[in-house]
Formats: sequence, structure tokens, C-alpha cells
Amino acid sequence: RAVTPQGTDRLLDRHRAVLPDWLTLYYDRPLEITHGEGRHVWDADGNRYLDFFGGILTTMTAHALPEVTKAVSEQAGRIIHSSTLYLNRPMVELAERIATLSGIPDARVFFTTSGTEANDTALMLATTYRASNQILAMRNSYHGRSFSTVSVTGNRGWSPTSLSPLQTLYVHGGVRDRGPYAHLDDADFVQACVADLEDLLGHGRVPAALIAEPVQGVGGFTAPPDGLYAAFREVLDRHGILWISDEVQTGWGRTGDHFWGWQAHAASGPPDILTFAKGIGNGMSIGGVVARADIMNCLDSNSISTFGGSPVTMAAGLANLSYLLEHDLQGNARRVGGLLIERLRGIGAGVDAVRAVRGRGLMIGLELVRPGTDEASPERAAALLEAAREGGLLLGKGGGHNTSVVRIAPPLSLTVAEAEQGAAILEQALRAV
Ligand code: PMP
Repeated sequence: RAVTPQGTDRLLDRHRAVLPDWLTLYYDRPLEITHGEGRHVWDADGNRYLDFFGGILTTMTAHALPEVTKAVSEQAGRIIHSSTLYLNRPMVELAERIATLSGIPDARVFFTTSGTEANDTALMLATTYRASNQILAMRNSYHGRSFSTVSVTGNRGWSPTSLSPLQTLYVHGGVRDRGPYAHLDDADFVQACVADLEDLLGHGRVPAALIAEPVQGVGGFTAPPDGLYAAFREVLDRHGILWISDEVQTGWGRTGDHFWGWQAHAASGPPDILTFAKGIGNGMSIGGVVARADIMNCLDSNSISTFGGSPVTMAAGLANLSYLLEHDLQGNARRVGGLLIERLRGIGAGVDAVRAVRGRGLMIGLELVRPGTDEASPERAAALLEAAREGGLLLGKGGGHNTSVVRIAPPLSLTVAEAEQGAAILEQALRAV
């Protein structure tokens, strides 16, 4: 394995001199990724890595997927961007497809450039629609780092500021296996969370919406029991509170069993508002909001920003969506993800420091603790990332404020052989730490 050459070291110095200190870089020797193909990326030293984090779930299908590259370059050759003031064919086509896929009746779609901006728009819609700046959010949640999304991010370790333009009430339920309800079975857990939600309402509190991730992503890939949001929905409906499902990580089939995360709670039907981003562009910056027309149209506005729905990103989204549907990548996530979870559980069972292996489809978390205790071990998670990198495998980190969960979310085209190869590297890395 080559040592990082001076070129990358110099780039790191220049990065540190000119970019904000809070722009986190992974690894003691940060990586400079120069290119990718399929499920692999290469650094400036020429080292190849199996990518189990997909650029924080943005490379959903595969790196350098020819279909997406072709669509992007053809569209860029015609026009990259004109304005939101003119008709935009790829935007209309992608909106039509997403409206149908969303399951939301009479759906309207608005495109943004990121998940943060999508949630920001969803919050503006809900608060305007209900004329209330109170929001319900889940403990340990992550919805972005803009001023409004930080205000509904329960995971304080990931918030740059504790100031808030919204009045937020945090609800239990996002984390299943830690906290005061950890000892309860599924049915009692759901009941306790519903009681907690009921307890927050009344007394002049009239929240506009509940915003929630079906599986908490940054929070460490933790999921409530299926049906929790259906149970919440009954309470929300009684109070006229909207449900915003943040599908930025769970959308497009990543969880294997479902195309959207909300479908694990299907009895409740679709949410009122759905937000998406990350993987739909296979790396191009697309975010968006889907909402019933009466909610979407409550704003009296022009577009919200200049770039949402830019033709090049829309072309990428269309090509990527077609590819993932035609190749049933959701089915692949279910099959290969299922095998990978089983394999990792087998590995984890023999290691004291592994508290849990959990997940769904290709969204798998491995929680690390100090051996023999229940205490989170961010040090071990960090060491595991370094050791895996040495072995040629890229992983992610997450969890509560202490980031002790290793996150695995490869492109959805992962093969069985690659899953096995990644698991073997991870097993060795675990032994090393
Ligand atoms: N919501 C969730 C659930 C996320 O995981 C993220 C990003 N990690 C966001 C919103 C924000 O998306 P973006 O980084 O594209 O702004």
C-alpha cells in the first residue's frame, strides 16, 4: 500500500488554510478520491477501496454508472441551466414519476438541491399551512444543518447551534434499544411512545407537523418497530397535525423491504409530506418535497432558490431512477443486504465490543461498546474505520452524540461477492481493534 504522497498532504494543508475548521474529514490521513467505478473508488495514491458508504448514501446505484454519465453529458452538452422561469422537460418528467411513486394522492413535487433544503421547504409548508411554528420531532433525529432543520434535529452532537427559529417538542420512538423504554417489547414500546406523544399535546400546543426519519440515519441506523408511525398517525390526525416523512436516507428501495421507509408503517397510508435527496441523483445534487396539492400550494411564492430542478441533475435523476427500477435494485438490497446482515451478525457474535448489528436492506449499523459494558465506544468505531481503510474498505460513522455506530450503506448494486469481501475485511479490522 502506497504512503500518501506529498501531493495529497499539501492539498490537506491548503484545505486547512482556506476551508472552515468544522468541515469534518474522515481518517487520520484524509483521502483524496480521484475516481470510481461500480462499488469501488480510488484515491490519489492509486489505492482501490470497496465503498461501503457510497459518499454518505449519495452514490445509490453505482459509481460512474454509464447510463447516468451519458444522460448528464448529453444534457450538459445541450444546456446546463437556464432558469426556473422557463419550462423544463426533464424536471416535469421526473416530477411525474416521483409523484406516482410517492403514493401521495394529488401529489405535487418541488425540487431542491439538497436534503436540508427539502426539509427546510417541508417545514415552511407545514408551518404556513397550519399557521404554527411548533414542530414535533424525534429524539436523536437528523434533518440537516440549516437554521430551521437544526431546530428539529434531536441529535445534539450534530447541531452546530442550539438557537432555534422553531418551537420543537421531541418525541420518543426513534431509538428502539436504548433509553427509558428499552426493556419493553414492541407492542408496549409503541404504546409508551404514543402516550409520550399524547402527553406533549394539549395545553395550547398546536404543532404544525411531526417530522421523522423511518429509520434514523445519522442517528445510527436505528428503527422503531413497524407500525409506530401508524399508531402516531391516529393521534396526529385527531389534532390535525401533518406527518412529514424524511426519506432522505430510506427512500428509493435502500431498506430492501420497501421502496419508501414509511411503507413499514403502511397501515397509516402515505405521509402528508415526503422529503427526499441523496441517492436519487446518484451523486448529482437533487433534493425535493412531495406533498398533497393543498399543502404544496399554501405558499404564495416564486421558486425558493435558483437551482432546484436544474436540467442536468434532472437528467441524472431520470436515468438513475430508470436504472434502479429496471434492475430491481430494491430486490438486490433486500437479498444482498439480508446476507450481509446475517454474516455481520455472525462476526459480531464473537466480539465483545460489538453490542449490536442491526439494519434493513443495505442500511446496516454495527454498534461498538467498551467490552463487557453497554457504554458507547466512539474510539473503537474510529479505530475500526482506520483499520478497514487499511484493508481497502470505506465505512461510515454515526450514532448519538458519540458516533459509536459504524454505518454500512453501499451502492444498491452491491454483489454477493463484494458483500462477502467487505465482511471479510471488516472481520479482520474488528480483530485488529
Ligand atoms: N435528512 C436526513 C435523514 C439525512 O440523513 C440528511 C443528510 N445526512 C439530510 C436530511 C440532509 O441532507 P443534505 O445533506 O443533502 O442536505
